[in-house]
Amino acid sequence: MSEYIIETPKGKWEVVCGLEIHCQIISKSKIFSGASTNYGDEPNQNVAFLDAGMPGMLPTLNEQCVHQAVKTGLGLNAQINEYSEFARKNYFYADLPLGYQISQFTYPIVGEGSLEVELEDGSKKKIGIERLHIEQDSGKSIHDLEPTKSLIDLNRAGVGLMEIVTKPDFRAPEEAGAFLRKLRSLLRYLETCDGNMDEGSMRCDVNVSVRPLGSDELRTRCEMKNVNSVRFVMQAIEAEAKRHVEVYEKGGVIAQETRQYDPVANVTHTLRKKEFAHDYRYFPEPDLLPLVLETGFVEKIKSEMPEMPDVKKARFIKELGLTEYDARVICESKEVAEYFEEASHGADAKRVANWLIGDVFAVLNKNGLTIAQSPVSAKNLGKLVNLISKDVISGKIAKDVFEMMLENDADPEKIVAEKGLKQETDVAFIEQTIDALMAKHTAEVETYKSGRNNLLGFFVGQTLKATQGKANPAVVNKIVSEKLNK
Ligand code: MN
Repeated sequence: MSEYIIETPKGKWEVVCGLEIHCQIISKSKIFSGASTNYGDEPNQNVAFLDAGMPGMLPTLNEQCVHQAVKTGLGLNAQINEYSEFARKNYFYADLPLGYQISQFTYPIVGEGSLEVELEDGSKKKIGIERLHIEQDSGKSIHDLEPTKSLIDLNRAGVGLMEIVTKPDFRAPEEAGAFLRKLRSLLRYLETCDGNMDEGSMRCDVNVSVRPLGSDELRTRCEMKNVNSVRFVMQAIEAEAKRHVEVYEKGGVIAQETRQYDPVANVTHTLRKKEFAHDYRYFPEPDLLPLVLETGFVEKIKSEMPEMPDVKKARFIKELGLTEYDARVICESKEVAEYFEEASHGADAKRVANWLIGDVFAVLNKNGLTIAQSPVSAKNLGKLVNLISKDVISGKIAKDVFEMMLENDADPEKIVAEKGLKQETDVAFIEQTIDALMAKHTAEVETYKSGRNNLLGFFVGQTLKATQGKANPAVVNKIVSEKLNK
């Protein structure tokens, strides 16, 4: 349990928060037209007559979008509704040429589900999912390119969205942050949404209210629209909750309204008051039949589901002996997990995990690279780990080899062979080296024998130096100790 309590001289308060997340569906074409969904194309290049609101155009449901919604529903352990309906949500906006959005209302395609999140302190919390429905995205209004005009780009108009609505289960900003990261990871595993919040393909509305600690009332909530990063969502919850507490403690009332979070000032401000709120006048979409899933449709998707991150994580812990922490870090990203599986194929998995989380991540972070752009391939990392496991090189030499591998993903076996870095495990040779050193440092040998045990390290160090770090440190340690204590 994460304890998040707002405490003032007047009392203690608890936060109640729920999220609504709009996720762009990965699909080549839009949900009701054949236009492309490609991101970053020239403005208004991907607009079918339907997307532009031309009269007489009829929507045709894209089966791929239905497939993706069902797959996501299964990933959220949710009820899949074989019967759902489309509904018209009526409102006027310049980037919505139809004058309405085709959405789902009373009968969504996915019902209740849940997602378990892990918190900083290692505890787990199950967050309830209220529903998932599919709908069209709107176009984009651009207000900052022309001083006196607003521009409209309809490329996004009609792109399929999954709107995921949670139950008001969040009691702390940290829980919402953990949920969004987990959801994003899940969507990427499922390949149903790319989860890029900065490109707007995952957008979060945050509902916040507060109540005296220990009460179970639900007070008036305010909604912050389109918060575009996980960090901002967490900050917005905190800022908004504190505002509610201040208002209540001064004897004021919170008005139900839509607000906007300003990350620069770390405050929220009113966007529109409830008294001007929309009445969307939902009604069943007359241009589309109810959506009835064919027998076997859901079963087929079930059979094609990839291994989910939690299952993968449990497997890495149980079968490969990873720690809970390492498994969590590796499984958070599908690509990292795939890299790890390839690298640890035939190599010591725990060692691979250490190198991946330590050395490889450090290089990626330093250079702003993703795992797919890693200068060291999974195959070569596995080879490096095997060289250590088989005592061909020491862990210390391996660090140098790794540095050399960064050039063109060089093969560690070749580096070791070419640079003559193979570890010296020839005991006779190591003994000779130590004998020579002891003959040279008779004073130190005497000092050791008079009780200065720390000189053991001196001889080990000298031996490693004399063999350019190639002598096996464990073997050296053992022989030096034996010889000194003779
Ligand atoms: Mn929506």
